[in-house]
Amino acid sequence: MKVAVLGTGVMGAGMVRSLRRAGIEVNAWNRSRAKADPLADDGARVFDSAAEAVADADVVALMLFDTAAVLEVMTEALPASQHSPVWVQCSTIGLEGTDRAAELANRFGAPFVDAPVLGTKQPAEQGALVFLAAGAEELRERVAPAFDAMGSRTIWVGEEPGRGSALKLACNAFVGTLTAAIGQSVGLATQLGLDPQLFLDALDGGASDSPYVHVKGAMMLAGDFPASFALDGVRKDLGLIREAEIASGTSTTLTDAALACYDVAAEQGHGADDMAAVVAAFRQA
Ligand code: NAP
Repeated sequence: MKVAVLGTGVMGAGMVRSLRRAGIEVNAWNRSRAKADPLADDGARVFDSAAEAVADADVVALMLFDTAAVLEVMTEALPASQHSPVWVQCSTIGLEGTDRAAELANRFGAPFVDAPVLGTKQPAEQGALVFLAAGAEELRERVAPAFDAMGSRTIWVGEEPGRGSALKLACNAFVGTLTAAIGQSVGLATQLGLDPQLFLDALDGGASDSPYVHVKGAMMLAGDFPASFALDGVRKDLGLIREAEIASGTSTTLTDAALACYDVAAEQGHGADDMAAVVAAFRQA
């Protein structure tokens, strides 16, 4: 099997390395080639264009920022593919974006799997992502070796593209508001004159504790935000979640409040920092 990975940013680079560890051939492409070049040391072939990377691939995995990037790249690349590769769409692009990508795939006769992922930089590096997949039953066997290399689990949500992305939005709504909630408690404890570590200590081991609270909480306390998931990416996702809430008649109240917090942190220059930098929004009077 040969997999083309288009987009070797924070997530895509880890996915390439996980595929290589499993002995799968990888063609890698990134718009800024400098991010893809180091993957040659892991045995990936690095290409100058997406079209060259997909030409002889059996599976094409996309890990690009948003819908516009996905459509632009695949409009150029799909006509160059020789083996009718399965397009595995891992970028978080929401419901409308997934519809548009599936339409494009259909136009070129490319089999399509909607396959956003749970997990961030470290799970991508470790091959421990969770795939939330939707696509035709007969495609599952074709993509299984790639999913098994990049992920610890695949949840097949259905055959209809968009079902995987729907579950991804529900999951990211939780993660986005949870991170803002951690920021709120760290901020409030600090403003009340407490050592904010006491908030993490108080939760430790209790029913509302989670490893995630300590990972993001520790970043907030240290004020150091190397990006596992950039704050601007969360703002993009909360926008997609909001659209889905409006379309489905779900209240946007909590999403609006969380998004306002991330917007404040972005205005303070934290857009490229990890989403934990949302804590900055709570330092305001
Ligand atoms: P990232 O490091 O910022 O990577 C984004 C990628 O998109 C880069 O390869 C970038 O290329 C490319 N890109 C952006 N605009 C483009 C365009 N117009 N044309 C071509 N390429 C373009 O972000 P990431 O964290 O890996 O996230 C990638 C996707 O995974 C996003 O949809 C994100 O929501 C989703 N996701 C992320 C996480 C996470 O924890 N990080 C978890 C699950 C899902 P350049 O390098 O040239 O800018």
